[in-house]
Amino acid sequence: MYCSKCGKEGGPGPMCQNCGAPLASGQSGYPSAPSKKPGGTASMVLGIISLATFWFPLAAIIMGIVGLVLGIVGKVKGAGGKAVAGIVMSACAIPLAIIMTAIGLTV
Ligand SMILES: [Zn+2]
Repeated sequence: MYCSKCGKEGGPGPMCQNCGAPLASGQSGYPSAPSKKPGGTASMVLGIISLATFWFPLAAIIMGIVGLVLGIVGKVKGAGGKAVAGIVMSACAIPLAIIMTAIGLTV
């Protein structure tokens, strides 16, 4: 991973070891192999599942919370759109499941 600020090899971490600048994978032309946008896809999948299972409130709330946390973590780590989708869907599924519980439409 080369540093876009000082042009030297920045090292394996998220920050340049020479100048301390953040090493953005988008600017170096190719992403470094292991840093594969953590959390984004998992968060989106959990969001979809929790939305699809909102009439099972326990499952929906648990998956919604996990999806929400994964989405926020993924967003912080730069996962972008999928993480946002996961956050939005999880954030919708949790109150939906609570409402379903409140009005007694659950199994
Ligand atoms: Zn640097």
